[in-house]
Amino acid sequence: MTAAPKTYDVRTHGCQMNVHDSERLAGLLETAGYVDLASVPEGERGDTADVVVFNTCAVRENADNKLYGNLGQLRPHKQRNPDLQIAVGGCMAQKDRDTIVQRAPWVDVVFGTHNIGSLPALLDRARHNREAQVEILESLETFPSTLPTRRDSAYSGWTSISVGCNNTCTFCIVPALRGKEKDRRPGEILAEVEALVAQGVLEVTLLGQNVNSYGVEFGDRLAFGKLLRACGDVKGLERVRFTSPHPAAFTDDVIEAMAQTPNVMPSLHMPLQSGSDRVLKDMRRSYRSAKFLGIIERVRDRIPDAAITTDIIVGFPGETEADFEETLRVVRESRFSSAFTFQYSIRPGTPAATMADQIPKAVVQERFERLVALQDEISWQENRAQEGRTVEVLVATGEGRKDGATDRISGRARDNRLVHVAVPEGAQRPRPGDMVSADVTYGAPHHLLADGALSGGTYSVRRTAGGDAWERAQAQPAGKPSVSLGMPRIGAPAPVTPAAPACGA
Ligand code: SF4
Repeated sequence: MTAAPKTYDVRTHGCQMNVHDSERLAGLLETAGYVDLASVPEGERGDTADVVVFNTCAVRENADNKLYGNLGQLRPHKQRNPDLQIAVGGCMAQKDRDTIVQRAPWVDVVFGTHNIGSLPALLDRARHNREAQVEILESLETFPSTLPTRRDSAYSGWTSISVGCNNTCTFCIVPALRGKEKDRRPGEILAEVEALVAQGVLEVTLLGQNVNSYGVEFGDRLAFGKLLRACGDVKGLERVRFTSPHPAAFTDDVIEAMAQTPNVMPSLHMPLQSGSDRVLKDMRRSYRSAKFLGIIERVRDRIPDAAITTDIIVGFPGETEADFEETLRVVRESRFSSAFTFQYSIRPGTPAATMADQIPKAVVQERFERLVALQDEISWQENRAQEGRTVEVLVATGEGRKDGATDRISGRARDNRLVHVAVPEGAQRPRPGDMVSADVTYGAPHHLLADGALSGGTYSVRRTAGGDAWERAQAQPAGKPSVSLGMPRIGAPAPVTPAAPACGA
């Protein structure tokens, strides 16, 4: 009788980068012969996997408490089953290194953000030597996208175009943990996009800490716009998105490429962080509010339907009431569809952590509430302006919690707004990955309702290769639940957390 294969469980914290890195960790483990714990029928699986991997985040507040809390919960399992292996990777591992095995000696492997490809070998070595393995590299060993990947969605995929960041925003830990920007060659990116499309993927998100400085490493300032245009030539690729661009590096050729490439979607997530030029300077963000507003104006001029979203930090050290009023002014003028709003809190290891004039919590809270109230009002007005439009929705799993009860299906419109669509009785039901067109009947503050079909309006379903791919995936043993694309949620901001954002966080 052959032994059952060892199981793995990858637990992810943090940003899109980590979600995508976790897809690679799963791919690496599967290539090494492990199977996903979630794919083992419930009655046949143990209470933990044979290998538990934490892909950690150092950006969020209390990230270390959360990690050590999670590790503490696994300790009794490890005592009962010494063969259980626990690995910690991601930004906390890069930051804390040996401290992790000092504080949690039952951890077997610690690996950094630059060497995720070493995980299977480190697990083997730890098992063989019966000794914890800590391996952290200072720079990238292999561009992560060349590693095997187990993708979580059949119809949407991520493609990394760069990793790391050459900026030095004073609130951000990312440059210290992810290193200098490394750009992947365009040919390699396009080959991956084509391979995804051949598997049924309709929607690709180009991912980088700072996508529009892409090309800096090989000396082509226009490389990102060219890449968008090249994606336009990939047959079968229906939706191209990207995250996150930096306003300082946002050039007009990118706006032109967005406007002229039909499969590049009319949505833009561009972090503002603050509307005050003085605060932007202290944040070491090298654009000013006038430049930011100028980009928005040109995007709206060339792409009138574009939905623009942003990230904003409230209460950065030294922020005065006048500075905050500047943020409100820029928010009013920008008319974002939605914004991720963050209360500044100290991130150890960042320059801002030791700045004088940290703002008292009560002041930050009060400003934050004013900002959220203003943005909610704008989001609602912008969504009400969508009423009567016909939208094309890429149906997705996990986007509509009440869909069963309301007989709707949910997904994202071209501009990335969340839409819940009523399915009329007896009508064809789309599969996740299919497209449905429907009329918007109500713009709620954080989503759209498209119930037009119930009163004789548009309702048409287009079966796609994405839907076919989803259906094929259902025939396989149950895997992990699909993740949503992870794009900024227009109209449905993430639950507010007192964390400073980083690009892509
Ligand atoms: S906030 Fe974004 S651009 Fe600034 S340092 Fe962090 S990753 Fe780079």
